Amino acid sequence: MGKAIAIFNQKGGVGKTTTNINLAACLALKGKKILILDIDPQGNTTSGMGISKKGLDKTMYEVLINDGLEPIDAIIPTRIKNLDIIPASVQLAGAEIELVQLEGREKRLKKALDKIKSQYDYIFIDCPPSLGLLTINSLTAVDSVLIPIQCEFYALEGVSQLMSTIELVKKNMNTSLVIQGVILSMFDGRTNLSIQVVEEVKKYFKEKVYTTVIPRNVRLAEAPSYGMPITEYDPKSKGAEAYFEFAEEFLELEGEN
Ligand code: ADP
Ligand code: MG
Repeated sequence: MGKAIAIFNQKGGVGKTTTNINLAACLALKGKKILILDIDPQGNTTSGMGISKKGLDKTMYEVLINDGLEPIDAIIPTRIKNLDIIPASVQLAGAEIELVQLEGREKRLKKALDKIKSQYDYIFIDCPPSLGLLTINSLTAVDSVLIPIQCEFYALEGVSQLMSTIELVKKNMNTSLVIQGVILSMFDGRTNLSIQVVEEVKKYFKEKVYTTVIPRNVRLAEAPSYGMPITEYDPKSKGAEAYFEFAEEFLELEGEN
C-alpha cells in the first residue's frame, strides 16, 4: 500500500514545490512508483513538470468537486519513468469556496486518494501556502507531513501555527497523522545566519530534521522554467546531488535502503 505525504508549510517560497518535484523525480529514478498531486492553484508543480495548465479537463479540481470522475482517469504520466501526476488547473482557485457546500468537504481528497493509493509506493501532495480547505483536505488524506523550512531569518515564524494546524487535523480528522520529517532548504554555508537557522530548527524539531540540507543553487531555480526536474535539467549540479542524497536518506529512514 502506498504512503501519502503532504508537503506542507503555509509560508510561500520555502521550497515546497521544488522539493515535491525533485524528491519525486529522484525517488522515481531509484525505481519507486511515484504520484504527485498538485493541489496548489498556482500550479507550479504542474508547470515545473512541463505540463501546460491550459486545456486540461481532468485535474485536481475535477477530482475534488466532481463525484462522477474516477480519480484514476485524472492521472497522467510525466516524461520521467515511474512518475505520474494529477495536475492543477486555474479552476482550483475556486475549489476553496466551492468545497464549502459539498458533502464531506474535508474528506474529499482522502476519498479519491484511497482509490488509487495502492498503485504507488509514494504519493506526494504539493500544498498551497494557506490554511484553507485544500490544505485541510491534504492533511486529512495523508499518512504524514513533510515540512520544508527555508534557511532565512524568519525561518521559525509561523511554525507554531503550522503545528497547531497539524494538531487540529490530527484531533478531528486524521488521528494517525505524523510528521515525516523537516527538510532545510536554500542553505547558504557562507552565512552565519544559515548555520544559526539550522541549529534553531534542530532545537525545535529535534530528530525530525533530515541530516541532508538542500543548498541554495541557481540550477534548482532555473529548472522549472524548462519544465524539468533537476535530475533532467542538470543532474550533476549541487542541487541535484542534494536531492539525490535526500532521496537516499528518505528511503533509509523508511527502512527501504
Ligand atoms: P514554495 O512552493 O514553498 O512556494 P518554491 O519551491 O516554489 O517554494 O521555491 C520558491 C522559489 O525559490 C522558486 O523560485 C524556486 O525556484 C526557488 N528555490 C527553491 N529552492 C531553491 C534552492 N534550493 N536554491 C535556489 N532556489 C530555490
Ligand atoms: Mg509552491
